[in-house]
Amino acid sequence: MAETGSVYIPAFYDVDYHDDGRIRRVTANQTRAPWRVSKHTVMNLDEWPFPKKPLVPLAETVHERMSVEIFRGCTRGCRFCQAGMITRPVRERSITGIGEMVKAGLEATGYEEVGLLSLSSADHSEIAEVAKDLADRYEGTQTGLSLPSTRVDAFNVDLANELTRNGRRSGLTFAPEGGSERIRKVINKMVTEEDLIRTVTTAYANGWRQVKLYFMCGLPTETDEDVLQIAEVAKRVIEAGREASGMKDIRCTVSIGGFVPKPHTPFQWAAQLDHEATDARLHKLRDAIRADRRYGKSIGFRYHDGKPGIIEGLLSRGDRRVGAVIEQVWRQGARFDGWSEHFSYQGWADAAHEALSDVPVDLNWYTIRERGEDEVLPWDHLDSGLDKEWLWQDWQESISGAEVEDCRWTPCYDCGVCDQMGTSIQIGPTGQRLLPVMVVDPTPVLATEASS
Ligand code: SF4
Repeated sequence: MAETGSVYIPAFYDVDYHDDGRIRRVTANQTRAPWRVSKHTVMNLDEWPFPKKPLVPLAETVHERMSVEIFRGCTRGCRFCQAGMITRPVRERSITGIGEMVKAGLEATGYEEVGLLSLSSADHSEIAEVAKDLADRYEGTQTGLSLPSTRVDAFNVDLANELTRNGRRSGLTFAPEGGSERIRKVINKMVTEEDLIRTVTTAYANGWRQVKLYFMCGLPTETDEDVLQIAEVAKRVIEAGREASGMKDIRCTVSIGGFVPKPHTPFQWAAQLDHEATDARLHKLRDAIRADRRYGKSIGFRYHDGKPGIIEGLLSRGDRRVGAVIEQVWRQGARFDGWSEHFSYQGWADAAHEALSDVPVDLNWYTIRERGEDEVLPWDHLDSGLDKEWLWQDWQESISGAEVEDCRWTPCYDCGVCDQMGTSIQIGPTGQRLLPVMVVDPTPVLATEASS
């Protein structure tokens, strides 16, 4: 299987280390194992309409809905986003392919909600037609539609209206990720504060009362001021919402977590912010929001403290020596650490100390250390198609705040993927539309959400 280049078998690769703990090289120890293992890319999603019959759990789950993947990949170029980077290029499922999957899936499962999923669903070239035609097709039934969080600059009220047709307008979720304009340039999240205010004003004016905003703390080059700017953004959102709706009972929830650098992204070389600094910054932000008499009460604040993020960082960019840390923490009794009530930072720190005692690296080395250009990274022999030189250049450009456009709508900037993988961008519009189908369930619609 390894010979095909599609399956990674770690035992077929040896790792040598420098005296200071960095990787010297990774080599295949089997003549037939390739020196790099490549990802594989499905080019025609319509040929792969899976899952056809999703399993329906007997227990109640968080997302009680059928999911249809409407496209793969994302070339918006957010520099922190591993999912976007490793699934390039963008490949859309056609409107008719989506329609068929929705029909077959609903018949097979009996679900009453369909999630139109992807990394940025509002970017589908025919999302307006998809939403309208599905809403038409299932009008008068209990079938609702939802999108995951929407990009600030891709939100449009017609689309949101289709998604909530006959339903309630409970909440909208946006992810500006960075509080200040400067830091959003660093991460290549090309949305301005004005975009955000314009979007939420439209939403509040059209009946929405609640907006949730996601941010990250600890991004490269970030300062306290960048994070404190989030409080100012939230206040402007409330102010704009009160003005647009003429009501006082509108809300904005700020949700923020620590940034964890990920492999195969331009930030794979970045130092992670230590947990003390993350917590201090988040507390300053919390205090700034609470101290505001005019708007503070309308702003909800949810955050995760910095310690779990450091362990996530260890697992995210660790090499095979981290396997011993995982085994050690398990031997110490750790179970279900993803649940905060079971998580023990001290347990992980002790396990790392114990398991790494014979090698010149530790928890800090894996997390809060910046990597150099020439360092061999533990995942360099796994090929996502991205050119390492392009990633480095994008990392350097991020520090100066230079932005990169989306290659769907501007010329290719040679990230390496299409050449390396023999792929190309596949987007519509197809110009096709969905025809009505005979719907079995005649019960009236109850409620839907525009986003989650
Ligand atoms: S190679 Fe060019 S077109 Fe393909 S994903 Fe990269 S930037 Fe976009």
